[in-house]
Amino acid sequence: MEIRVYNTLTNKKEKLIPINPGKIGMYVCGVTVYDDCHIGHARGAIIFDMIRQYLEYRGFQVTYIHNFTDVDDKIINRAKKENCRACDVAEKYTAEYCRDMKNLEVKEATREPKATEHIGEIIDLIKMLQEKGFAYEVGGDVFFEINKFPEYGKLSNRDVDQMRAGARIDIDERKHDPLDFVLWKSAKEGEPFWESPWGPGRPGWHIECSAMSMKYLGHTFDIHGGGKDLIFPHHENEIAQSEAASGKPFARYWLHNGFVNINQEKMSKSLQNFFTIKEVLAQCSSEQLRLFLLSTHYRSPINFSLSAVEEAGKALERVYNTFYTVENIISVAKDGDQGESPKSMEQPARIVSTAEDMKFKKRINLLKADFEKAMDDDFNSAEAIGKLYDAVKEVNVFIHEHPQIKAVEITFLKNMMEKIKRLGSVLGIFQKFSNTSKETNSMEDFMEILLEVRNLCRSNKYWDVADLIRSRLQEKGITIEDRKEGTFWRKK
Ligand SMILES: [Zn+2]
Repeated sequence: MEIRVYNTLTNKKEKLIPINPGKIGMYVCGVTVYDDCHIGHARGAIIFDMIRQYLEYRGFQVTYIHNFTDVDDKIINRAKKENCRACDVAEKYTAEYCRDMKNLEVKEATREPKATEHIGEIIDLIKMLQEKGFAYEVGGDVFFEINKFPEYGKLSNRDVDQMRAGARIDIDERKHDPLDFVLWKSAKEGEPFWESPWGPGRPGWHIECSAMSMKYLGHTFDIHGGGKDLIFPHHENEIAQSEAASGKPFARYWLHNGFVNINQEKMSKSLQNFFTIKEVLAQCSSEQLRLFLLSTHYRSPINFSLSAVEEAGKALERVYNTFYTVENIISVAKDGDQGESPKSMEQPARIVSTAEDMKFKKRINLLKADFEKAMDDDFNSAEAIGKLYDAVKEVNVFIHEHPQIKAVEITFLKNMMEKIKRLGSVLGIFQKFSNTSKETNSMEDFMEILLEVRNLCRSNKYWDVADLIRSRLQEKGITIEDRKEGTFWRKK
């Protein structure tokens, strides 16, 4: 079995061959922290989280780098409007982003570097480009000269003339070519700046990703990801400046996710069809949103509507109802076992089980194989989820057709459910059912111990400790009641 990924650089699906066997280095462009993140950001984050988690499931050790652009025109403009410092705006929205990601249950990246913490690396990279003749300075600004890099355009698959026609380019007489892009911007009045060989200034947007990805992953690494809107010019420029500086190939596989449309229209602030992550999570659970987003292939556009997310919620409910039924069958069977002597039922069941057992094991292995086949094919989570739904349906039919259920069949249902949950965990779905009950159990265990300690304090007249336990719990919304029958607790 091999993993195949669609590579924007070659426009085809290719076998994923890591540079270092068993390891994957992956860089995904992050957000510019100047505002609350919207559903489009959520899609990108969840997709690359899914890709990373699947690679880990397949045994790769993944180094996942995801940056923050924390110095940029948008940040500076917002700071001016709010009459505060640009770094305050950046800090605020970095924290908001982290909170959103936590709420979306996106796994933290291996590293989350910030542009402003890598100014030294950025300056070194620009200096190298200048020394090698790929960059030129005009009045404190430094530009990359695209005509010095003959492969410019290889990612977006356009020639330079097409790009000139297609891109909205600022006319800047100082540039050798309209497509030349800025590496270093000289500081304007009131803007944040750093000292550099070209005078005080700040990095252009593209250069930070080259500096940070090469710092943490090396000159050549496995996967570079981002939204489709970043292919040109951002990723095209990243390739040009990285390969020009290092003389080596940059990322090997370029993965790009599709856009989010809102009610069939492109999402945009001007159309006011705009949903922030917070607004969406006020209406649905993160699991619901994740199921909805991953039910479409990551490269395709997705149409977001609250009713579609509601549908995902209903689908989740159906899956959990099935889990609930299976759990019930297992617990009823357990209770039955305790009451009866084991010899009457167990023995004959064992004898007939071998052939059946094999059949059931095969079915479960097939589910795993089907799931992996879908995911190996360019992370087709939509198809993988379809296979999990099929398995849930099959469990329902099986229960329906077996009103008198044997031990071996119960084992099958249990294993099938565990497999659906395990495979679902790779996508971050179907996890709430078990988690809730587990959490409740561990909470109960913990409270039992704590109340035992408190009672011991009371009987030894350590009133202050006993009272402290009570008042601290009260602060957390847990009320304790001492009654004749014993001590009881309840959560608000
Ligand atoms: Zn980037």
